[in-house]
Amino acid sequence: MAGKSEGSAIGIDLGTTYSCVAVWQRDRVQVIQNDQGNRITPSYVAFNETERLLGDSAKNVVSMNPTNTVFDAKRMIGRRFSDPLVQEDVLLWPFKVICGENDKPMIVVTHKGEEKRFAAEEISSMVLTKMKEIAEVFLGSTVKNAVITVPAYFNDSQRRATRDAGIISGLNVLRILVEPTAAAIAYGLDKMYSSSGEKNVLIFDLGGGTFDVSILTMVKSTFKVKSTAGNTHLGGEDFDNRMLKYFSQEFKRKHKGDMSNNARALRKLKTACERAKKNLSSMVHTAISIDCLYDGIDFNSPITRAKFEELNMELFEECIVHVEKCLKDAEMDKESIDEVVLVGGSTRIPKVKQLLQDFFNGKKLCESIHPDEAVAYGAAIQAAILSGQSTDEIRDLVLCDVTPLSLGVELDSGEMSVVVPRNTTVPTRKEKGFSTVNDNQTSVTFPVYEGERPRGSDNILLGEFVLSGISPAPRGVPKLKVFFDMDVNGILTVTAKDEATGNANGITISNVKGLLSQNEILKMLEEAKKLKLEDEEHKNRFQAKNSLEDYVYNAGAATRKFSSKLGIADAKKIESEIKSAMAWLDDHKNAERDVIENKRKELEGIWEPFLKKLLL
Ligand code: AMP
Repeated sequence: MAGKSEGSAIGIDLGTTYSCVAVWQRDRVQVIQNDQGNRITPSYVAFNETERLLGDSAKNVVSMNPTNTVFDAKRMIGRRFSDPLVQEDVLLWPFKVICGENDKPMIVVTHKGEEKRFAAEEISSMVLTKMKEIAEVFLGSTVKNAVITVPAYFNDSQRRATRDAGIISGLNVLRILVEPTAAAIAYGLDKMYSSSGEKNVLIFDLGGGTFDVSILTMVKSTFKVKSTAGNTHLGGEDFDNRMLKYFSQEFKRKHKGDMSNNARALRKLKTACERAKKNLSSMVHTAISIDCLYDGIDFNSPITRAKFEELNMELFEECIVHVEKCLKDAEMDKESIDEVVLVGGSTRIPKVKQLLQDFFNGKKLCESIHPDEAVAYGAAIQAAILSGQSTDEIRDLVLCDVTPLSLGVELDSGEMSVVVPRNTTVPTRKEKGFSTVNDNQTSVTFPVYEGERPRGSDNILLGEFVLSGISPAPRGVPKLKVFFDMDVNGILTVTAKDEATGNANGITISNVKGLLSQNEILKMLEEAKKLKLEDEEHKNRFQAKNSLEDYVYNAGAATRKFSSKLGIADAKKIESEIKSAMAWLDDHKNAERDVIENKRKELEGIWEPFLKKLLL
């Protein structure tokens, strides 16, 4: 556990499209503004000829540099390249994603004229670095410890990959917390002391790229997750993509132009679609208007709320199916839900609210918590508790999470034998007995799977390990115990033991295909530090250049205003000096910092005597 001496611990909501950071300070949560004054920061990273941009500055240049501006890393994290969902997205992303070692998706960009490949963990680590820096500026001190949130439906490898991203960004990840639990803390903080008895709360969290629904039971300050459901590939981005498809076809129909291979045009159109979608949450019609979208053609096209709803109805309805599933898993009916709490930017869509309200027979939905900030808010409280910085208000808060998917081993028959059923409260330790299938078998392989399908191979393989040294015996006689330990972060360790010999072996989850090894994480950590140093060097170079420009322009202004204080010869000399300094600045736009600083010294040596006279 982190101690008080280690400074404030922060809560980070690492979102698909936007991220948010908060901290517990002076008995309350502060959601921290970024350098642009915004409380949410785009989860975007852009690379160009001279620098790396993070957050708003990256998103602002996306249409100018679409192939090197990366977003949606969360939709790739912990997934394989061949995953059909990744394949679907690859077709829409303007940046390039290729298949790396062990089927790992690798993002390819050009940075400073060189091709670079990044894993999703590295891109997410860059977003986390940005969030860490935002908090450091606000707090005026270095931040080391953080709680990072993930969707409840994230599987083991997605959670691990997110934790790895935290490590690469130089953070000590105190806990991987699930988003609905974080939101429930934000919701429950006001309520926990006032309410008496048990309260069942359904958290409906529809964000940029993921959808989670969870049912929690709150008793005073104890929050227990009863069940969770959702889709890690359903959110605002999908609604934008459906609109993008619609408008691309509209463009083709009206102007006979096919922009499907033009990343820049597609990006411009997608940005306009997101804006139109947001407008349609408060207006019943809006329009897209983009100058010079493709082939020099301006594109103007209206869209009504009804059309937007029609394009996405299937996705909106899918949300309700997950709500039903979540209730079923919790063995509750809709009448037992006391409160339906909305979280995530996409819950502002009127149709989503209406479908949900209709499903709950007209029940009023709770919109009292900030949909964009609730998750970071809850994470900040959890971070304060874990780092020993909590105060009386939150000290007694107890969170009990559940396993989002069943965990088990595949039997020789191919059947999945569940050891930890879905929605078991964590941390948990479960055990199950197995044996050999052949006479005198001395070793058994345990493939560990995650998922709900009856056949192991239809689920997600987390890894496998071998228990050897079993004493030869007729089949079915050896007694082999398998233990599944899931920690508070939802991260799993599996061990097996031969009861006769005491021999044991376990799974080294970090060796699972597609996840990063310790060495790879260390290498990425070094690379991240190098990139950060380069960013700082770039910033310093720009500051030096700005300051030199200021110096030259101010000298020029002073000369124009007060040249009468100088003799004609001196005035001419300084004027020509300033002219040549301006030409030098034009010719040295990308000069290194030491070249700029030397130039400044050289000019000061010549100019100062004149400037003194001018400004006397
Ligand atoms: P989150 O991941 O919770 O930050 O949600 C981000 C998503 O919410 C993005 O896809 C946004 O486009 C979407 N969003 C934000 N505001 C609105 C709005 N007023 N109407 C519809 N969607 C919105």
